[in-house]
Amino acid sequence: MKVPVSLIIDDPAPIISVYYEHAGTAFTRDGRPLVPTYSNELLFRFCDIVEKRGIKGKYSVIPMPGNKGDIINGLEGVEKKDLDEWLNAVKTRLAPRFTIGPEMLTHHKAIDLETGKALSVNERDFAATQTRETLTPYIEKAVSLLNQAGFDAFGVTSPWDFGIEVEKDYQAAISEAVYNATGRKNSWLFLRGLRNTPNAKPWIGHKEDGRTLVCIPATTNDHIWQTIDTPETSEEYVQSVADEIITKDGKDGEAVRVLETGGYPILIAHWQSLMSNGLGTGLRILDEVARRINENLSDRVEWKSFKEIMEMVLANPENYQTPDLDPKDSGI
Ligand SMILES: [Zn+2]
Repeated sequence: MKVPVSLIIDDPAPIISVYYEHAGTAFTRDGRPLVPTYSNELLFRFCDIVEKRGIKGKYSVIPMPGNKGDIINGLEGVEKKDLDEWLNAVKTRLAPRFTIGPEMLTHHKAIDLETGKALSVNERDFAATQTRETLTPYIEKAVSLLNQAGFDAFGVTSPWDFGIEVEKDYQAAISEAVYNATGRKNSWLFLRGLRNTPNAKPWIGHKEDGRTLVCIPATTNDHIWQTIDTPETSEEYVQSVADEIITKDGKDGEAVRVLETGGYPILIAHWQSLMSNGLGTGLRILDEVARRINENLSDRVEWKSFKEIMEMVLANPENYQTPDLDPKDSGI
């Protein structure tokens, strides 16, 4: 039986770079101005790669990105036609291969649900002091906004390590919120990273009233992130970053090492990593990584979406043991 390989994409939003909004700096590490937006052309390039290579995984859509409005009523500084074009491309070209879910509401300042206004704390720090009772409506709003926009959302990604301090309450809240918003009894969560861990696989995080939450970890690091902070775009550079994930001969690299220890290679990249501050270097690296996986590992692995991985776990729960988690091991 083949092992699933999957790609997590964190932080996408229509046009707006949430990284620009929350980075806490206006510059890349090598001193160039951070770009505040990404064109739809870059999204289309991502869709082309995904279709060409058969990539599957999880793709976040942040419903209120950077506290600049929401995807239903419009976003500050984003033309309606560009917003619609973005949502339409994600629905028609990515949703068939990627499980879509919110990465909470803003990936920036937390929202007061009563007034709709931004609080002074970011969502990460906000979550740390919450309970099941207060997290449930917050998550429900995020899931509902995506469903209203026409996505089949039934799981969530933590912005940063949202909820890690109150993980049990958070898991229960997700299961309840997804059920309230959609009537679905099964849901998924991406919060944790299991790196340098033999046999790294998903597990069941919460069960209650016939509902089940499956936790899916990242099992590799985001090697493509480094492209944000360099103007380097040469072919040698692209090949060298791809090597960190899987070498040309398919014999080494972090994804291959995960497979060798019996785990599932669950790769991670952030939207800003693929965009590379507007240069798109990360897209070229992803294309090469997927090409190498398909060329070298296709007899051992098969691309799977988060929905498909969730269903694998639910079909044979006895095969998936809850790992010993380090309190700080987030997926970031
Ligand atoms: Zn994120």
